[in-house]
Amino acid sequence: MSTPARILVVEDELHLAEGLLFNLQAEGYQVALAGDGETALSLLEQAPAFQAVLLDVMLPGKDGFAVASELRAAGNYVPVLMLTARGRPEDILNGLEAGADDYLAKPFDLSILLARLHVLLRRMHWQQTRSAPEQAADPADPPTAYHFAGRTIDFALLELEAKGQRIRLTLMEADFLRYLSEHPFRIIPRKELLERVWRVHEDTDTRAIDNFVVRLRRYIEDEPATPVYLKTVRGVGYRFLPAGE
Ligand code: CA
Repeated sequence: MSTPARILVVEDELHLAEGLLFNLQAEGYQVALAGDGETALSLLEQAPAFQAVLLDVMLPGKDGFAVASELRAAGNYVPVLMLTARGRPEDILNGLEAGADDYLAKPFDLSILLARLHVLLRRMHWQQTRSAPEQAADPADPPTAYHFAGRTIDFALLELEAKGQRIRLTLMEADFLRYLSEHPFRIIPRKELLERVWRVHEDTDTRAIDNFVVRLRRYIEDEPATPVYLKTVRGVGYRFLPAGE
């Protein structure tokens, strides 16, 4: 990317916000600050677009979950890295369910935050350039599309084509579908999904994944209430059946 990426930092604790501003600018990013959710949403509606958002969960007024949900509902798929409180794994799942792409528990190490941000930007950049045929594919990149039962998951464009509709996916939704597509037929325990897709290792209420699955079923199933592709295995986890039951 020739122009520096624009990052929006949504954080109400001023010393943290200014620390992030200083360090991100030192890395060559353009940075804007928002101290609450309403300000963040209004900045994100305006041009030029941001390439990523660092979104604190605990904000005055609208919290980070509400901000992420409203962004996605408005069709804005800017990568969102959510900053959660340590020891609150339910925050992580709520955040991912709200449409965040990744999370980091506070207090975080700056170098880890920068690395995560770089991954998000790289994935987004990769996704955008893959639609341009003159760009050579990086051989390290995984397959770009997966087909099953008349549906297509395009991991490069972050799009799912199903039931005559094209649906935008968050990076995390795409990662979850990729994991399923790489492990068809097998019963995948919820704990494994948490660890491998969400990188959540804390003991947590794993039923929280179920809400995420409910949303994906609305995308891929003909009858989301009686799924044939993404099945629940009671008390254990899930099974993905590419040809249906
Ligand atoms: Ca806060």
